[in-house]
Amino acid sequence: MSGEHKDAHHHDHSHLTEEDRIGTAFFLNAGFAIVELVGGFSVGSVAILSDAVHDLGDSVSLGLAWFLQRFSRKGKDLRFTYGYKRFSLLSALVNAIVLVSGSLFVLARAVPKFFSPEAPHVTGMFLLALFGVAVNAFAAFRLWKGSSINARVAAWHLLEDVLGWAAVLFVSVVLKFRPWYILDPLLSVLVSFFILWNVVKNLRYVLEIFLQGTPEGVCLNDIEAILLQIPGVISVHDLHVWSLDGERTVLTAHLVTGSDASPEEIEMAKNEARQRLSEKGIGHATLEMERKGEYCGMGAGHDCMAN
Ligand SMILES: [Zn+2]
Ligand SMILES: [Zn+2]
Ligand SMILES: [Zn+2]
Repeated sequence: MSGEHKDAHHHDHSHLTEEDRIGTAFFLNAGFAIVELVGGFSVGSVAILSDAVHDLGDSVSLGLAWFLQRFSRKGKDLRFTYGYKRFSLLSALVNAIVLVSGSLFVLARAVPKFFSPEAPHVTGMFLLALFGVAVNAFAAFRLWKGSSINARVAAWHLLEDVLGWAAVLFVSVVLKFRPWYILDPLLSVLVSFFILWNVVKNLRYVLEIFLQGTPEGVCLNDIEAILLQIPGVISVHDLHVWSLDGERTVLTAHLVTGSDASPEEIEMAKNEARQRLSEKGIGHATLEMERKGEYCGMGAGHDCMAN
């Protein structure tokens, strides 16, 4: 906390660390999710149960983020040579498991209600929705004033939650005057599909990182062109780029210099390459330097997975 005061540009004087904030958000979210679960069951509304699953997913993300902060602070060691930041990817997987199983559970309850609609406890539904809109709108408003990008993203997310609750509120008002009980399972199915659609989107992103795909926003041809512009470099091969955790990019490549390049020229080319790559946001480059004609075994046509 004392560190915050050394930074003159830090306008937040709430004396809370990032970890404290995530912890508080976790307890609020988890508490609210439990209220929703109990409330959804007792008023007999599957739409509220869908919102509960959504908030349960948020709680799991926050809880794991909170827990994993401890790990991610640890530096590299002999077991995990890149450090522990990559553990944060696990939270996305656990989150997906919770959201998918929760959504399937709710869908299994919602779908039969299309064929035999039941009246939920409309007044209870209305009051719970009013509470949901108020709590989420208040939280979103508070975060909105935060200056960090994380706070903004979280605020947008809460706005999404507000919309979900506003829809429940709307349905409860309609049900007060019209017996269109099918609206409750209908909203539930819509929210569930929205949740599952987001799971697929997030999983694709995380799996691409796990599978060492070329990171979004990195064009391999551009990288190769940048390396080829370096004085002394005549060709590039075995170029690999992947992301550690969605933020840090790692690269390995072989750079070929002329057959008569001096050790100094090779060193200059290597340092220039590292410099230009770090300007492109690639902070961790491992470069193998070789002279033209030197045997390397990983030239054109080599199968990187063969050995
Ligand atoms: Zn290194
Ligand atoms: Zn090579
Ligand atoms: Zn390779």
